[in-house]
Amino acid sequence: MQRSIGFLIVLVSAVGFTACISKSSNAQMERNEESSDRPAYTLVIHGGAGVILRENLSDSMEMAFREALNKALDAGEKVLQEGGLALDAVVASVQSMEDDPLFNAGKGAVFTHDGKNEMDASIMDGRDLNAGAVGGLTNVKSPIAAARAVMEKSEHVFLSGKGAEQFAADQGLELVDPSYFYTERRWKSLQDAIAAEEKSEAMTPEMKHGTVGAVALDQFGNIAAATSTGGMTNKRYNRFGDVPVIGAGTYANNQSCAVSCTGHGEYFIRFTVAHDIAALKMYQHKALEDAAREVIFDKEGKAGGEGGIIAVDPDGNIAMVFNSPGMYRGFTRPGAREIKIFKD
Ligand code: ASP
Repeated sequence: MQRSIGFLIVLVSAVGFTACISKSSNAQMERNEESSDRPAYTLVIHGGAGVILRENLSDSMEMAFREALNKALDAGEKVLQEGGLALDAVVASVQSMEDDPLFNAGKGAVFTHDGKNEMDASIMDGRDLNAGAVGGLTNVKSPIAAARAVMEKSEHVFLSGKGAEQFAADQGLELVDPSYFYTERRWKSLQDAIAAEEKSEAMTPEMKHGTVGAVALDQFGNIAAATSTGGMTNKRYNRFGDVPVIGAGTYANNQSCAVSCTGHGEYFIRFTVAHDIAALKMYQHKALEDAAREVIFDKEGKAGGEGGIIAVDPDGNIAMVFNSPGMYRGFTRPGAREIKIFKD
């Protein structure tokens, strides 16, 4: 009897030991698979979504956009290659596009009905859910720098108008005369929009909007998102779109994903697009692309909203999903880079 109990104990411990070994080696394997699969870094950018059709974009304009997107990818990738943070990379990419008159952000911002440029931006750090946003800036050269300063140097998340400008000045950010933001192309769009309005015609979609954004994963597994815009042409009443609204135009959480949006802001606010994608991924364990498609096509899109998103998760999966005819977009990671504008 005693011998058989002893035998049983040996047997049970042997089985337990084997199970333990195989479990730990499985876990090890999973970890190895994860770390070998995960790229050292990943960066995704967008330069706005809208009615961007091959037949309407001249070869030289297409080339200019491709070059500008490449430059923005270079700026963010340099940070990541040098071991920098996702947060610094998204700011570098967004600033590159803010400085380029091609995009509706910073230098190339669209005009309000009153002939002003009012810019919005936001940023979020997936490490600690820290976030900063600014709305209605008229004289800060880099609105994304102001959003970052709100996140890092104030106890607030969202500042707007004169107060936000005062804060940016106090932080020593570069201020410019509002005329810096004048571009003939955007001024003409405003005149076209006003003329269309007077004739009670709908604005052509390409008159309306645009935005820039970036999401990144760094070598430490952190993700971040940043978005900057001039908003909608001909906007009135100090209107804000989704861009400065955390959870609508921008969201990042290391537990889920980082998202930056572009499109008809009112819809993106009502559908809290960026956070909804993160929530579907976190609570329903949806794949990033599936979560993004569900929100852009089945929710926001079904209600009549138009636009798109870029996203990255901590495993380096990316999504670039839009329901408009085109979206200026691109990604880069070690050994791979792609820039696209049209649907195909
Ligand atoms: N979402 C921006 C806004 O509504 C515009 C855009 O992304 O096209 O202000």
